Amino acid sequence: LFARPWVFLKGCVRVSDLPLDDVVEIAFAGRSNVGKSSLINALVGQSGLARTSNTPGRTQELNLFAPEAGGIRIVDMPGYGFAKAPKPAVEKWNRLIHQFLRGRPNLRRVYVLVDARHGPKPNDATVMNELDRAAVSYQVVLTKADKLIEKDLAGVVAATAKFIAKRPAAHPEIILTSSEKGHGIDALRTEIARLRDG
Ligand code: GDP
Repeated sequence: LFARPWVFLKGCVRVSDLPLDDVVEIAFAGRSNVGKSSLINALVGQSGLARTSNTPGRTQELNLFAPEAGGIRIVDMPGYGFAKAPKPAVEKWNRLIHQFLRGRPNLRRVYVLVDARHGPKPNDATVMNELDRAAVSYQVVLTKADKLIEKDLAGVVAATAKFIAKRPAAHPEIILTSSEKGHGIDALRTEIARLRDG
């Protein structure tokens, strides 16, 4: 499933740009700079695939990636929560995400990335509300675990679990990752393979 090479398929600025087929999709969402591109690159084992951008909030597109051999598709959702984002851009983002989540039967799960140092923020909750309303399955992935010391990791996982427990739907366990150190990447691959086959 994670056989290389993976390729960039296209960037979609509207849902009508999305391919109409039955390929299983997994999406990744998170605040700008959460480490989303790094995680996607680590997952597929290709450093240059998703663009690690230094201009947070720049890409307002759904970027699609797939293995050349097919079988699955990754949807890289535009980062949110960029403080300087102009209001119209935020509204455009909201509209795109709303339409994407409502009308995507092949979407199996959204991975909501949260920086392990900061825990879930209000705009993560906004996205989770949207996911709950659209009845889309999601799982929280804590990123940049290597930036915390061991004893603080347990605390952030517990706090995040408590945050998630308040959500209306039940959710799979939180995955702790570090793209830098490779931590949790295999666990994520296993989970995604199971989603594809399930
Ligand atoms: P994106 O905006 O969510 O796509 O975030 P990026 O993947 O571009 O990462 C944002 C910044 O965080 C970059 O400077 C990365 O090098 C750094 N970063 C991403 N993942 C990790 C990680 O696992 N550990 C550490 N220490 N830094 C990371």
